[in-house]
Amino acid sequence: MVKRIYLDNAATTPIDKRVAKAMRDFELEFYGNPNSIHREGQSARAKIDFARAEIAQFINAKPQEIIFTSGATEANNHALRGVISSALRNLRSKVHVVTTAIEHQSVYETLKLMESWKIIDVTYLKPDKQGMIEASDVIKAITDNTVLISVIHVSNEIGSVLPIREIGKSLEAINAKAKHPILFHTDAVQAAKYFNLNVEKNNVDLMTISAHKINGPKGIGALYIRSGTPIDNLMTGGAQEYGMRPGTQNTPGIIGFAKAIQLLGSLEERQSAARRIAVLRDKLISELSQFDRCDLNGPTGDQRAPDNVNFSILGADSELVMSKLDLAGIAASTGSACVSGSAEPSHVIRALGKINDIKAATVRLTLGKQNSLSDIKQAIKVISTLARE
Ligand code: PMP
Repeated sequence: MVKRIYLDNAATTPIDKRVAKAMRDFELEFYGNPNSIHREGQSARAKIDFARAEIAQFINAKPQEIIFTSGATEANNHALRGVISSALRNLRSKVHVVTTAIEHQSVYETLKLMESWKIIDVTYLKPDKQGMIEASDVIKAITDNTVLISVIHVSNEIGSVLPIREIGKSLEAINAKAKHPILFHTDAVQAAKYFNLNVEKNNVDLMTISAHKINGPKGIGALYIRSGTPIDNLMTGGAQEYGMRPGTQNTPGIIGFAKAIQLLGSLEERQSAARRIAVLRDKLISELSQFDRCDLNGPTGDQRAPDNVNFSILGADSELVMSKLDLAGIAASTGSACVSGSAEPSHVIRALGKINDIKAATVRLTLGKQNSLSDIKQAIKVISTLARE
């Protein structure tokens, strides 16, 4: 049997055994509803309060600024729909949002939908050919009606690391003089492992994170909402999560989320893990770049996430490449949105404006802490064969 090499860590990560154990232990003992007033409820409550405080500390927030959700898709929807709904109700007839053309679908499609309702105007900033967007371009896009800026911290597809701190700083100066402050949201799902998510230093008002991208469980995420942020709820029906997100909490998920965050370690430890992973990334990039048919998507060096490799194999078919990789033991991903059998390049790949007319297979390889140099060598061998075909 071929050895399996998992290189799809941006899609999801294997759960850490210590996380799974913490969840199982918790679930068996602390089954109470954390919103109940009896002892079973309150002991579960104490555990999730502790977990919330740990997650808050990781991003330098207050515990009550963390709202647990079913994942990042919900958190992104909550941030966008909630802020826009509140702005429309409270102050504006016309609402403008600044975002990028390389957001995750849960941001991109939510804004596209609201645009189709003709209740908002949206500026989708195009990246340069390398997939980067400058802070000054974000600031220049602001109009009198702008209520929200939503910029992904690290692209899940092409690995661009966007200048969140610089945008936050510039916005702080603008908001200091503004009548209606502009809110700043970032989808930091792919940034949590290796980057500094300090909400004060980055000056963000809303931030999305998700547990299953950091060796935690699926089905649990969080939205950081700075105290005092004008935002409506996404759902109605209960007073949980400080009245902002109804429904009984996914308590084992919360425990697992906090454990996964704990295991990420200090910023120094995360930065040193990033350096180790970047060596593997750069080996993949340099070896595969030797093939004329392989064209790297996204930036290089510090502007690229340490765990992301994405390139197009010109003339190849995405689905065929994916199935050949899978047969050879490699779990990778394609940057294509498969719609009824036809593999079209995703909106992110299209935004790079490079290969729209040329047939090409997009291959994304995303590394995790379990990957070794021998995994990378094996992946290079397999992909080299494909690139020669
Ligand atoms: N944002 C980004 C950047 C992502 O990579 C993902 C997962 N692909 C999501 C949001 C959605 O996350 P979840 O699966 O937790 O809903």
